[in-house]
Amino acid sequence: MVKIIYDEKICVRCGACATESENGGIKFECGKIIIDKTKNEDWQTIAAICPVAAIIVKNIISNV
Ligand code: SF4
Repeated sequence: MVKIIYDEKICVRCGACATESENGGIKFECGKIIIDKTKNEDWQTIAAICPVAAIIVKNIISNV
């Protein structure tokens, strides 16, 4: 399971993450980044292309 952290204060709205999003997990609308964490995306790749590291993906280890 992953946790996606988006810091809109450092995001420069370049739109690269939305372009990389294949299943609607990230949309760039009206100058805002909208993230839907429930969508199946390659979040690691999306985080890696962000030029300012505004998206961070953390792996959560479940003990269930
Ligand atoms: S790639 Fe990073 S800086 Fe660019 S819009 Fe997405 S979150 Fe913002």
